[in-house]
Amino acid sequence: SYSGSERGPLALPPKINLESFNAFIHEIIAIVGNDNVDVITSHDQIDDKSYEDPTHTHDPHHILDQDYFLASAVVAPRNVPDVQAIVRAANKISLPLWPISIGRNSGYGGAGPRVRGSIVLNMGKNMSKVLEVNVEGAYCLLEPGVTFQSLHEYLVEHNLRDKLWVDVPDLGGGSVLGNTLDRGVGYTPYGDHWMMHCGMEIVLPNGELMRTGMGALPDPKRPETMGLAPEDQPWNKTAHLFPYGFGPYVDGLFSQSNLGIVTKMGMWLMPDPGGYQSYLITIPKDEDLKQAVDIIRPLRLSMVLQNVPTIRHILMDAACMGPKTDYTSKTGPLTDAELDEIAKKLNLGRWNFYGALYLTKSKGPEPIRNAMWAVIKEAFSAIPGAKFFFPEDVPGKTVLHIRDKTLQGIPTFDELKWVSWLPNGAHLFFSPIARVVGDDAMEQYTITKKRCQEAGLDFIGTFTVGLREMHHIVCIVFDKKSPEQKKKAHWLIKTLIDDCAAKGWGEYRTHLAVMDQIMGTFSWNKNSFLKFNEVIKNAVDPNGIIAPGKSGVWPKQYNKEEWKL
Ligand code: ADP
Repeated sequence: SYSGSERGPLALPPKINLESFNAFIHEIIAIVGNDNVDVITSHDQIDDKSYEDPTHTHDPHHILDQDYFLASAVVAPRNVPDVQAIVRAANKISLPLWPISIGRNSGYGGAGPRVRGSIVLNMGKNMSKVLEVNVEGAYCLLEPGVTFQSLHEYLVEHNLRDKLWVDVPDLGGGSVLGNTLDRGVGYTPYGDHWMMHCGMEIVLPNGELMRTGMGALPDPKRPETMGLAPEDQPWNKTAHLFPYGFGPYVDGLFSQSNLGIVTKMGMWLMPDPGGYQSYLITIPKDEDLKQAVDIIRPLRLSMVLQNVPTIRHILMDAACMGPKTDYTSKTGPLTDAELDEIAKKLNLGRWNFYGALYLTKSKGPEPIRNAMWAVIKEAFSAIPGAKFFFPEDVPGKTVLHIRDKTLQGIPTFDELKWVSWLPNGAHLFFSPIARVVGDDAMEQYTITKKRCQEAGLDFIGTFTVGLREMHHIVCIVFDKKSPEQKKKAHWLIKTLIDDCAAKGWGEYRTHLAVMDQIMGTFSWNKNSFLKFNEVIKNAVDPNGIIAPGKSGVWPKQYNKEEWKL
């Protein structure tokens, strides 16, 4: 039982006194049971833990104080009616709830709530079932706690891996549903997760349950489904086949937002293409980035490049192979000559391009694969000194061998390693969108690299190539035990956001600490976008209970000027 009643949590939610907080917790315990409620009453409960065993109380990659984005309690609903009951109770006292699925969300704030003292709703703990894998339609229906890893394992265990593939991000531990809601990406042809979701079930801020798209159309009633609770009713047979349904397409309102708690999501799975070949193209010089990007654009647009390929900076790969101390005794940012030396040592380029060829059985893998590879090879051969590798030709375990797995939907955990580039390594992502244009890529890289160096940090980054743009992911790695480095990391991201906005570049996703700043840059025509979102927020969630401040959208109960960081 909650024995800290007298002391209360370390962080009370805003405008809520201990008495009403305690009453609320007792109400919640009556709903979900003792085992599913953890009130954070002592600093002993605030532990950064690890990727393998993620914390739910705060952001383990803290750039502010460790307990700045701290939950008052972590509550794990057991089922949909629990979520509805919690939401209804929270409405009575305007108590902020911060839903997470797994809560890893590495580099973007972890499980930490934007508003200190919010109750973190751990949706993944008890709701982690793969509800359906439909081979014919090539989709699955998932609860929040299904991770990329667990979905992949499910396919393997059910002998479905030769039929369907999951698209995985760099690390396999995140929630498929959570990652998709935050619009995360992976690297197969199905890399745009949001594009591949189809049909959601959502507990709305008033406690009502809604299904979107074709899911809003009831499945015909049959004797065996009569009388089932809404959340247990079978979905319409086309709910996970056609995403838009009829009328306004509202799914987008529930991504990177604070308008509901998602309890189920349909995801398209990639049919096993029958043939597969990953490859690496090493690009020798720093300035070759420009030419490489201009080569990539037409190939990607025409889908000769079939997957979401990446152009990785040498240090991204170097850091996967070992910490900075393995390469140098220097602590400051490395010079061009030092980077060249590392590239030479690892037999890599200053940039390294990872892609794959996917071919269907019916079309005959070999001839088509060879033709596509010939086109790619010829195009990249225009870069003097570019080299081409297949994993089977490279000895040892290299990043190419890791990417070989990732690009065919097999989750890995090896890329965790780059966070340890520095001692006590933690990280923060700065993720602007870039055109697939050489000059733009070069300019964005040059500006971000310069600022990283001003902060005393190495540039570590990658360009992830979507269909018509690149997610430029700058990995800000810092020593979280150094207050000075944390300050620099925070300064760096704030400065980069403004530098980039001045160039017309904006971010696709971000960390809790800079959500307001980034929303402030999406200001076209007197902030009409933010204003529209605030109107919706206040209409749908009049008591401001769901994730206040997420993406810089604040309900009317909060003075957003006071919350600015
Ligand atoms: P990961 O999958 O990396 O572990 P999270 O579970 O933390 O990520 O989810 C990432 C973000 O997506 C959360 O911070 C939250 O904003 C949102 N989110 C996750 N799960 C839900 C959910 N079930 N309902 C509403 N929003 C969610």
